[in-house]
Amino acid sequence: MRILLVEDEKRIASFIERGLKEKKFVVDIAGDGEQGLYLAEINPYDAIILDLVLPGEDGLEICKKLRKQNILTPILMLTARGEVRDRVMGLNAGADDYLAKPFSFEELIARLRALLRRQQPQKTNHLKVADLELNMLNHEVQRAGNPITLTSKEYMILECLMLHANQVVTRTMLSEHVWQENFQTFTNVIDVYIRYLRSKIDEGHPNKMIQTLRGSGYMLKG
Ligand code: CA
Repeated sequence: MRILLVEDEKRIASFIERGLKEKKFVVDIAGDGEQGLYLAEINPYDAIILDLVLPGEDGLEICKKLRKQNILTPILMLTARGEVRDRVMGLNAGADDYLAKPFSFEELIARLRALLRRQQPQKTNHLKVADLELNMLNHEVQRAGNPITLTSKEYMILECLMLHANQVVTRTMLSEHVWQENFQTFTNVIDVYIRYLRSKIDEGHPNKMIQTLRGSGYMLKG
């Protein structure tokens, strides 16, 4: 799950970012509305957390512009104001939910998850390739019905492989999905994670799903 966070206050942005990353979300941060709009136009996000008070155009304007461009990603609006009027304005501008500051991280994550469930009934949150299953909402993974415990990096690599099952997944795709950057130096790191993942996913199963394609990347074969 990839989240866009539009928040100019660095302290709050890093607090939310840390928490979301712990929960295995991929997070992009925009420090103002303009950058937020740009990122939302070029990337497919599962949800947007949008602060109301931003330098330049505020959250309401950004929200309206996104909806006008037919970007229907669920939006959770953050604001210091708890007024009913602001809440109504936010919802009228196209936000899906609203959270007044200060809030606890637990409340934010609960609202976010509710939004992801509610807004995307048509979008599957459950990936299944052969007997390997992954739930994108609670990050549970099982093979042949047996639960598998993964670290957050292993989980994100597997999610990327499963989203592109039976296709070539390059190291660049993995490094962008998991580290949000494309560093050639990650090559060795990725190989190490693939090895961990392989031992957790494939060991004890005659059908080895994680394949290494020499020179091009990896493939999860169903
Ligand atoms: Ca702000």
